[in-house]
Amino acid sequence: MPEENVNKQAQAGQNPKDEEPRIGVYVCNCGGNIGDVVKCDMVAQTLGKLPNVTVAHSNMFMCSDPGQKMIADDIKEKGINRVVIGACSIFLHEQTFRRTLERAGLNPYLYYHVGLREQVSWVHHGTPKEATEKSIRMMAAGIAKARNMKPLEPVRLPAHRHALVIGGGVAGLRSALDLARRGLQVTLVEKSHYLGGRMAQWERVFPTNEEARPLLKRLIDQVLAEPNITIHTGAQVAGAKGYVGNYTVTIRQQPRGVRGTFPNEQGVMDVCPIKQRCEFNYGLSTRKAIYRPYKECVPEGLVIDWEHCTKCGECVQVAPEGMINLEEEAHEFTVEVGAVVLATGFQPYEPFYGEMGWKEYPEVITLPQLHRLLDDEGPSDGKFYWNGHPVRNVALIHCVGSRQVEGVHRAQMDGEVNNYCSRVCCTASLSMASLIRQKAPDAKIYEIYEDIRAYGRWHEDYYTRASKNNVTFLRYYAEEIPEVRRADEKAENPLLVKVRDHLTWGEEIEIPVDLVVLSVGMMPNPVQDLMEIFKVTPGSDRFLLEVHPKLRPVETAVNGVVLAGTAQGPMNIQESCAAASAAAAKVSALIEQAKVELEPYVAHVDPDQCQGSGECVKVCPQEEAIELKTFSENGRTFQRAVVTPANCNGCGVCVSVCPNRALDVQGWRLDEYEAMVEAIAADIPAWEGAA
Ligand SMILES: Cc1cc2nc3c(=O)[nH]c(=O)nc-3n(C[C@H](O)[C@H](O)[C@H](O)COP(=O)(O)OP(=O)(O)OC[C@H]3O[C@@H](n4cnc5c(N)ncnc54)[C@H](O)[C@@H]3O)c2cc1C
Repeated sequence: MPEENVNKQAQAGQNPKDEEPRIGVYVCNCGGNIGDVVKCDMVAQTLGKLPNVTVAHSNMFMCSDPGQKMIADDIKEKGINRVVIGACSIFLHEQTFRRTLERAGLNPYLYYHVGLREQVSWVHHGTPKEATEKSIRMMAAGIAKARNMKPLEPVRLPAHRHALVIGGGVAGLRSALDLARRGLQVTLVEKSHYLGGRMAQWERVFPTNEEARPLLKRLIDQVLAEPNITIHTGAQVAGAKGYVGNYTVTIRQQPRGVRGTFPNEQGVMDVCPIKQRCEFNYGLSTRKAIYRPYKECVPEGLVIDWEHCTKCGECVQVAPEGMINLEEEAHEFTVEVGAVVLATGFQPYEPFYGEMGWKEYPEVITLPQLHRLLDDEGPSDGKFYWNGHPVRNVALIHCVGSRQVEGVHRAQMDGEVNNYCSRVCCTASLSMASLIRQKAPDAKIYEIYEDIRAYGRWHEDYYTRASKNNVTFLRYYAEEIPEVRRADEKAENPLLVKVRDHLTWGEEIEIPVDLVVLSVGMMPNPVQDLMEIFKVTPGSDRFLLEVHPKLRPVETAVNGVVLAGTAQGPMNIQESCAAASAAAAKVSALIEQAKVELEPYVAHVDPDQCQGSGECVKVCPQEEAIELKTFSENGRTFQRAVVTPANCNGCGVCVSVCPNRALDVQGWRLDEYEAMVEAIAADIPAWEGAA
């Protein structure tokens, strides 16, 4: 039908045949975000001349109520059966517009979204004419696709109302509690034998200065009181099969070797002949092969360190009968879950040998070690002593293992330096400076920093307090790393820190100190195994990656696998808990109805075209997304490809190899692509201002 006739017909309110596309085109100014660059009226006017375009409008905010009403009215009153919208990001408003279509009685997948803000106005703001032409071409391609679009239905699957939380630090605990309170079953798996993660290692925490362990205990007690939560410590995920809503996860659990608690636990630990580096105190003390990391830990009983226990049996001799069993074996079991929260946390950066004196001089320690040293329950009962002497001069050097510069700092095993800011260490160092001042009122304290980033509410107070507390600040530049070296034997202080201080216009200063504290950054805990099991990916900083840092900040690219806390990047406790609650909200929204709805954009096999070549199965990167199945019909046996939609991510690799063109991705069929490519390259109608 000639295009003028289509438009005339629409104006006259006539109804063409049902299957004939009647496309509504809407161009959003997005305030001025798009409209300040792209001539939106002109784009709408020009697109209105294309075949099958029944209405074409521009509007200041298509996502506003009047904007949405305009679309709904056109659907109801003008018989619009395809919608093309040029607006901001699809991530922001795809759901908004799908719901608009649904409310108006149209299949929500008969809508195509063109990103005019990110792809046009923001990147071409200096060339409005070209931006307008690009908008017309991109939307013309969308219209070409719309002509070929077919209604789709989401993939609907039953789901277990049960979530797996991996990691029992503050983030994992928070997520587990939130999930359980929404009525979901939760299995929490913690690798170590105790709950709480790193937070248990700090005595007090900024920005409230509360005692960390009692605060953590409050959360742990709430988790323990929740009947919906099952906790497995000393446990790790060994494998998983399935997909969102239906994972079967295998968990491998190490035995504790000790049953419950008993009165003479100290005596039992005393007789153990093995001494090991105490991880809880970052090696500042030793522990036995039967141990507990700290007094109030949960679970509270002792545990055997199987790696180092020689099974000499001394402990069994003195413990009440049956309480210790050195023959216990690890065991495996499975859980059926609908979604997974990864809350595997962080580890402090480990400096290289000799990096600012690390391991070269015993008087160089890290910030986490300083925390343990100053802890009243720590290895020196909170006294600020080193090597048996009170510390009188101390230098805290910031940004060790953070904000590194390529070519200046040594790279990690993967060849990358840690160029990110670890965010937590500035405030943690400043809070330690004030604690040192309390414990050693006459000590000289130096904070040697690149920039102070006390970015959170009340964090700046720590900077102000340290300044008032006579802490001396010296500022270095990243490429001029402070140097730590041994002082003369007769010198009063064992170490010298040389720094070019840019607060005194680049003066080179040498400070004699008793102790150097390296304010080390955060790195992710190594979770290569989990990345492979759940197919999640890390970012360039090695932390687990979210889909979009702003719009989908806790979801991974794998549906049903979400992130909580510092597994995703450096965060303080407040941020870790906020992320953990967000993760719990995402998971419960996904599975609490006992079913999941997935996008319909998955591979589809045309059984009449498929000859069972199996090429698609060979190239498919997803496990169990497509397989060959044997069928019998009229005494004939043959094979055909069959898709499991829940496992398919719609990548389309199978489409490209099928020799019979029997495969397509729903919603992104080859004929739709071809139409789009042709439209984008075709001549466009003349528009005012094009010359
Ligand atoms: C020196 C220092 C001082 C700090 N002081 C403060 C402060 O005062 N205030 C503040 O707000 N924040 C502070 N922080 C930050 C705070 O420690 C973190 O925000 C918090 O610990 C993050 O909790 P999380 O649960 O994400 O990670 P973690 O505490 O690291 O917990 C992760 C848990 O996951 C477990 N795990 C790891 N891998 C696996 C696996 N494969 N399977 C099962 N379990 C696994 C680990 O054993 C651990 O128990 C400080 C950080 C540092 C480095």
